[in-house]
Amino acid sequence: MTMDNTDFPFSYNQPEQTTESLKKAIVYKLIFLIGRSPQEASQRDWLNATLYAVRDLVTEGWISTARQSRDEKTRRVYYLSMEYLMGRTLSNALIAEGVYTLAKDALAELDVDLEEIIEKEVDPGLGNGGLGRLAACFMDSIATLAIPGMGYGIRYEYGMFQQAIEDGKQVEKPDAWLEKGAPWEFMRPSKRFNIQFGGHIYFEGKKCVWDSSEEITALAYDQMIPGYDNDSAATLRLWSAHAGDSFNLAEFNRGDYFRAIETRAASENVSRVLYPDDSTWAGRELRLRQEYFLVSASLQDIIKRHKRTHGTVKNLADKVAIHLNDTHPALAIPELMYILVDKEGYDWKTAWDMCRRIFSYTCHTLMSEALETWPVEMMAKNLPRHLQIIFEINDYFLEYVRTYVTTDDDFIRRVSLIEEGDTRKVRMGWLSVVGSHKVNGVAAIHSELMKTSTFADFAHIYPERFTNVTNGITPRRWIAVANPDLSALFDRYIGTEWRRDLSLLTELKAHINDAEVQQAIPAIKRANKQRLADYVKKELGIELSPDALFDVQVKRIHEYKRQILNVLHIVARYNEMLENPEKDWTPRVFILAGKAASAYYAAKQTINLINDVAKIINNDERLQGRLKVVFIPNYSVSLAQIIIPAADISEQISLAGTEASGTSNMKFALNGALTLGTLDGANVEILENVGEDNIFIFGHTVEQVEELRRNGYRPYDIYQSNEQLRRVIDQITSGLFSPNDPHRYQDLLNGLCYHDYYQSFADFQSYVEAQKRVDEKYHDQKAWTNSALQNIVNMSFFSSDRTIEEYAQKIWKIQPLKLN
Ligand SMILES: *Cc1c(COP(=O)(O)O)cnc(C)c1O
Repeated sequence: MTMDNTDFPFSYNQPEQTTESLKKAIVYKLIFLIGRSPQEASQRDWLNATLYAVRDLVTEGWISTARQSRDEKTRRVYYLSMEYLMGRTLSNALIAEGVYTLAKDALAELDVDLEEIIEKEVDPGLGNGGLGRLAACFMDSIATLAIPGMGYGIRYEYGMFQQAIEDGKQVEKPDAWLEKGAPWEFMRPSKRFNIQFGGHIYFEGKKCVWDSSEEITALAYDQMIPGYDNDSAATLRLWSAHAGDSFNLAEFNRGDYFRAIETRAASENVSRVLYPDDSTWAGRELRLRQEYFLVSASLQDIIKRHKRTHGTVKNLADKVAIHLNDTHPALAIPELMYILVDKEGYDWKTAWDMCRRIFSYTCHTLMSEALETWPVEMMAKNLPRHLQIIFEINDYFLEYVRTYVTTDDDFIRRVSLIEEGDTRKVRMGWLSVVGSHKVNGVAAIHSELMKTSTFADFAHIYPERFTNVTNGITPRRWIAVANPDLSALFDRYIGTEWRRDLSLLTELKAHINDAEVQQAIPAIKRANKQRLADYVKKELGIELSPDALFDVQVKRIHEYKRQILNVLHIVARYNEMLENPEKDWTPRVFILAGKAASAYYAAKQTINLINDVAKIINNDERLQGRLKVVFIPNYSVSLAQIIIPAADISEQISLAGTEASGTSNMKFALNGALTLGTLDGANVEILENVGEDNIFIFGHTVEQVEELRRNGYRPYDIYQSNEQLRRVIDQITSGLFSPNDPHRYQDLLNGLCYHDYYQSFADFQSYVEAQKRVDEKYHDQKAWTNSALQNIVNMSFFSSDRTIEEYAQKIWKIQPLKLN
């Protein structure tokens, strides 16, 4: 950390940290912030003391970057997301600040083991899965590239539930992540905004007035996101709901003190808990209120900051880009209209033009059932003015369509922001498209399908609006933090700069045939497998051999992701192994992990089935340990960091046309696993980059899937004609894996045999054959190592730095800061 500008009277951190200075800083924090002596400190005390000490190393650069962006009056981007799945802070920050080894040595002198305290950090589960993790990777890249901007989200008191497995079934436990303290965050008592709900609207002449009936205070908590080795950091501002100043005065005055306090507690519910479902969830009022809470607090903050810097909102669209991570924050569009028209006095057209220059939107799905809608009635009750604005946007938009596109009533009905019917609904996807200047999909195939299916009508109206930005992952967390041995190998051959510029991986190509590399790759993989095996032994008591092929599927449990297809193959393999025990079977370990939404019956059944199958297989001595199945509970970023570097095979087996991009597919390939996947999402681009000899592709294409659907897909016919599949289904039906509850999987199996919406049966044969190719290749360890290497060196494209550069250039029109 160097410091020579006017922010600070002098720098508190020495420009060069030493073991000694770091040691001193940690002990200082321990004594004066935590109030413990080194003799009495627990592991958690040491963790928190270290976090405080490392936080200090980031803070000055964070403050001066914010100052620079303010002074230069740069254009900025604000990323709005209901979820951020950050993972642990400490090891990532140590690496960003370049003090990992120093901290390790400093702590060792204090008799503390760095790796042990790292494991003590609570993983903040403020996201469900891929969408939240993407937001986290993006923040990391925004910080590293010094893109002026910040992220906004909600500081949920309870994150994603903790998953336990009891008797084979998922059990949800509350995730009270804040209870252990949150040393990484800064509370901002002065950053508070009132959020209105309810009431009614009336007109004073032409001016609309919203007379709300309820008020909540949003309070800011800032997290620093350290940039990699750039003395800079980005801000993630999370809002917490406080009843704050807003007692119900009527109740107070009536002397009903208890009721007044009670309502206070209820109003704080809005930031209480993350909704544990990222695709389909019941349209719950609290969720709508959460979305508005995020949007209103963030926009008020953005406007206030802009006015402070520029003294006017006139140039807002020149200086501000606001990005919507899915439709969850789409209320930002009517909220900005509300601010510009009702508060700032702009006429409708000027305000609307500004809006459309400011917003951009990322679509994360294709499945129409996952598109967000809100009952008009619910919105009228909670956000009457915003509903009215949405109606007005709709009138304005439909008028445009009638004038310039078509007068076809059917078309008009389809594109209307309001879905008519028994319950009228606001279509948030449509609102997001209409209110944005760019709409992007998250992988090439997804962006194409977006234009021909979900948003086909809109692509007709606004062809120039649609674009693609393929997702990416940060090499800091997913290699530097998660795979230190592979990092060390990279450092030896291509230097350390790959952490900031992943395209340098191509330089490793020249060394692919070096004996040392050829020997190092399997050795690193084996050590990572041992690390995972140790974890599994410790947590689940199951013994795994690092010599087995580790076949891994870790992600949210969802029918479209087809964990069930994985299970069907496992049982088929089990049968074959028992029939041909003498055959030279490659020992296999199937590893699965993932949470099911608490109300998602089919997903919970799937978890149960995986565990039931595991129990029988793991205890069947006839297999001689050559087949193991492990379900690792409570999948999280920290677990992903242990599991992914240990994988030989990466299962990416969603039905073609359902996974928008996927990002774990990228993490696996970068860590040297070979993908076994369908032509879906970013798998397609991974195939293009690594080459067809280094990936196992199977299953129907999007076109074949659609054709099958059109022509009447009959899974029962496949059940009847495929002997291997029939046997598997019959075994599960007969209760082979659930002898005490033989009918346990009746619903699940009926669903498959008679509907199989995600066509697992149709891809079964192709999947089994692909698995055979996996076995054959693994027999040739040299060929396998070469393919693993081809995966690693060809993954540059999938860095989230490349993704963010594309957003900055194509969508946000934002230049990185030239850091002072
Ligand atoms: C990367 C990641 C995901 C996304 O996985 P997909 O396979 O792309 O769905 C979900 N959860 C965690 C913890 C992750 O790290």
